[in-house]
Amino acid sequence: MAQQLDLIPSTRKRKNGEIAYKGILNCFIYVEEKRSADKITWVCEEKRKSLCGARLQTNLSMQVVNAQRNVHRNHIAESSKVEVMEAMIALKRRAVETQEPSSKIVNTALHCTSAVATAHLPLTDSLRRKVCRHRVAELGEAASFDIPSMVIPHRFKYYQQINSAAGHGCSSLVTPGQGDQHEEAGTPTQGQINSVQAAV
Ligand SMILES: [Zn+2]
Repeated sequence: MAQQLDLIPSTRKRKNGEIAYKGILNCFIYVEEKRSADKITWVCEEKRKSLCGARLQTNLSMQVVNAQRNVHRNHIAESSKVEVMEAMIALKRRAVETQEPSSKIVNTALHCTSAVATAHLPLTDSLRRKVCRHRVAELGEAASFDIPSMVIPHRFKYYQQINSAAGHGCSSLVTPGQGDQHEEAGTPTQGQINSVQAAV
């Protein structure tokens, strides 16, 4: 049975604006070199860096039709690198498809990645910025934000943050008026009433 090349969208786009894909086979990563009417030639991503001469051909359904020269002499497969690529794709997809806070999306990505691969992921803060940037790029706005980082005027604090330290970001409704009364908006002080009356 023919082997199947898995495709992962790359960060680069092709000249015609289409998304470029990288191919994955047995944890080796390939980039497209050329394509004809019925075949695509893939070369190892380490072609320059490791002077790797491995190459293979697939049909347009990504079934491997020629793997005679698929030999990686100078380097080993990097399963952790493939895992990191997959984790970053999942992270970007969640950023666009869900409204979860960036901290939760990053936690999920870290949770689903093996310890070895996690060492190759960007730092947590950098990942969170990536989520926000990706949202702005794809949705035109930061669709979600991190509630703990917001400064909320006192008079709007009808929603009380609980479990914010644990990162769950759950909110519960607090009845207006339970908080301090003396800064309540819409209740003018006697001084304000006097000054309004003086102005009239
Ligand atoms: Zn190679």
